[in-house]
Amino acid sequence: MRGRRNSTRSRTTGWSMSNWKIPLTDLDYGDEELHAVQRVLRSQWLSMGPEVAAFEREFAGHCQIPHAVAVSSATAALSMALAVADVGAQDEVIQPGLNFVAAANATVQRGAEPVFVDVLGLDEPTLDPRQVARRIGPRTKAVVAMHYGGRLCRMAELAELCERHGVVLIEDACHAVGVSTEAADGGDSFAGGIGDLGAFSFFSNKNLATGEGGMVVTRRDDFAERLRPLRSHGMTTLTWDRHRGHASSYDVAVHGSNYRLDELHAALGRVQLQKLADNNRRRRTVLDFYAARLGGLEGWMFPLTTDQPTSGHLMVAVAPDGAVRDRVVADLRQAGVQTSLHYPCIADFTAFQDWQAAELAMTRDFAQRAISLPIFPTMTEQQVDYVCEALLATPASEGNGN
Ligand SMILES: *Cc1c(COP(=O)(O)O)cnc(C)c1O
Repeated sequence: MRGRRNSTRSRTTGWSMSNWKIPLTDLDYGDEELHAVQRVLRSQWLSMGPEVAAFEREFAGHCQIPHAVAVSSATAALSMALAVADVGAQDEVIQPGLNFVAAANATVQRGAEPVFVDVLGLDEPTLDPRQVARRIGPRTKAVVAMHYGGRLCRMAELAELCERHGVVLIEDACHAVGVSTEAADGGDSFAGGIGDLGAFSFFSNKNLATGEGGMVVTRRDDFAERLRPLRSHGMTTLTWDRHRGHASSYDVAVHGSNYRLDELHAALGRVQLQKLADNNRRRRTVLDFYAARLGGLEGWMFPLTTDQPTSGHLMVAVAPDGAVRDRVVADLRQAGVQTSLHYPCIADFTAFQDWQAAELAMTRDFAQRAISLPIFPTMTEQQVDYVCEALLATPASEGNGN
């Protein structure tokens, strides 16, 4: 079996981080990242400074979004986005019940209420604009749209709706770094820069990985001006400015926090940004390999193998029912294939029982039936074969399609 190659050995170190034959995700790290870290260490400056500034400039340039503010995580980015949207007590933030929990937690931490709405369907698991239209009201301050798996939400409809109601549109673009679509003016618009504010994560399993880190982006000058101080205690100057003698004191103008990124992570981010377009392309090729093997499988759906623009962040299979899903997950584990679920329904978590939403039928069905299969830029066609053969060998999924 060719799939036996141990894919968890990183190119750089040869260390094996797990015993999976095929892990869910794998870094594309090499000498470039090592050299970037060495450059920072030699500079003897570790906290937010020139590397962070360069990373922000390069990221903004790559995504054609005027303002990019580097932060320590996407959770920080989402908190800051909600803050500049003036989300506070008694306000409502409409968001998908199918998402990572960060946006919902950030909403509650601002004293506001998450209003969970359903996704369009099992084959398009992003925010349903009609559901948003039904729930939008006088207390709605913001809508959070999440580009599931790297496939864009129906942004034109959502943007029109938010504009009409004077509501801030925030993109949780963690899955969609570097994804662009044709804009109304014929140019490109990039995920994160379509709405009013966008949040990205550079956690280890994301398409642009630095370990921890994130970015908040905006086209709006007024928002950018308010974001920067929020990242560093609301202070009007940085340690770096004072180090260079550009400032000797500071004022505190707003109540900020410490959401700063550091130089080491920024240096890694700059290297990963250079690899991003190629790696997203390689992920899309992996999606095509999956589509060719599983495409016609009866009763199954593959919402992310589409012709739409995508980052290829996830490869998700939706099983005919929950029982088949559970059997396939168990069989894949037996075969050494790591899987995951993106995501359980947020409204069903204990901490969210005050906001339990009845109308999340599609989200809950998806959570019962979805499997995230391995996908990463260095994944080979043989590895995809191995995963698909294991999936197709499970009773009740065999004999169809292939
Ligand atoms: C990873 C992720 C987050 C959180 O990112 P952190 O950088 O870990 O805070 C939020 N939303 C989505 C959709 C994510 O995938």
